[in-house]
Amino acid sequence: MARRVIIVGGGVAGIQTALTLSQRGIPTLLLERESELGGKLTGWHKLFPSFTPAHEVLDELRQRLNGSGVEVRTQCEVCHVERSGVTLASGERLAADAVVVTTGFTLFDARVKEEYGYGIYDNVYTTADIERMLNEGRVAMRDGSAPRRIAFLHCVGSRDEKVCQHHCSKVCCITGVKQAMELKEMFPEADVFNFYMDIRMFGPGYEEMYRDAQQRLNIHFVRGRISEASPTLDGRVQIKAEDTLTGRPLKMSVDMLILIIGMRSNASNAVFAADAGLQCQPSGFLAPRDLFLHNTESNVGGIFYAGAVTAPKNIGESLSEAVVAADRVTEYLKRA
Ligand code: SF4
Repeated sequence: MARRVIIVGGGVAGIQTALTLSQRGIPTLLLERESELGGKLTGWHKLFPSFTPAHEVLDELRQRLNGSGVEVRTQCEVCHVERSGVTLASGERLAADAVVVTTGFTLFDARVKEEYGYGIYDNVYTTADIERMLNEGRVAMRDGSAPRRIAFLHCVGSRDEKVCQHHCSKVCCITGVKQAMELKEMFPEADVFNFYMDIRMFGPGYEEMYRDAQQRLNIHFVRGRISEASPTLDGRVQIKAEDTLTGRPLKMSVDMLILIIGMRSNASNAVFAADAGLQCQPSGFLAPRDLFLHNTESNVGGIFYAGAVTAPKNIGESLSEAVVAADRVTEYLKRA
């Protein structure tokens, strides 16, 4: 049965799928577009709800890869996917007996929501910027001073008809809570606000973390959506919102406005779908064969999925799904 499987995408789902297949004696080639493995996790600081450093998870996965027998090629962009292999941007064709697509997601580009001033005004950031700043060990306003009032805005680029992103990105509520707690602990004197439409705490420990943020750290949660942001003369950001619980409009100046950006589907999904006859969901994420017994299989025999390429998922879910995908590939190769 020792046939070759190609994994497209070297994030956590791709690494785990490759490791599991390799443990079963199946030759596996892992292809990654960037120069290092790890996907979005490489830019993340700590993981919710345990505040585990992201690098610990990545380091262990990379260690397991050493000596695993998995062949890894980085800086390899895959342009076309078929059941019989893939074609790289260089034109090189790589044959396989099965392909697993683990290309994940794209972070929403906050510049699209011009009304929030990201990339235009000082002191407007995204959650991805905050993770980078936390990794660098320095979170501060543009002029270097410590923020005294911070506002997070949920659902930026998710659940938003105006930008054609109707889905909920699922993990960004808890990301907003996690970062609010990290910043409050870093700046105990600061007032921290989270503006939300709904709070979605679906995972184990998430609700407890949300309560802890309110009760222990006194982080404020305001149900309402910020309609616009504008710069003030002293370099701060003025936000306008409506508190939808009291029905009152609200105007506030903050030192940092942090946009909680969602997960959107990759542009490459449509290309892969057109090449191989794969189905996409209305959100643009690739559609599994079904959501229950075949959720790591595509509608095309020999092409499989794992991780956030089919929907927003957290790290734990992506890792678990990768093991299931490897199981399904193994069964498929036995039958083929
Ligand atoms: S998880 Fe929360 S912030 Fe993210 S899209 Fe869903 S409701 Fe909005």
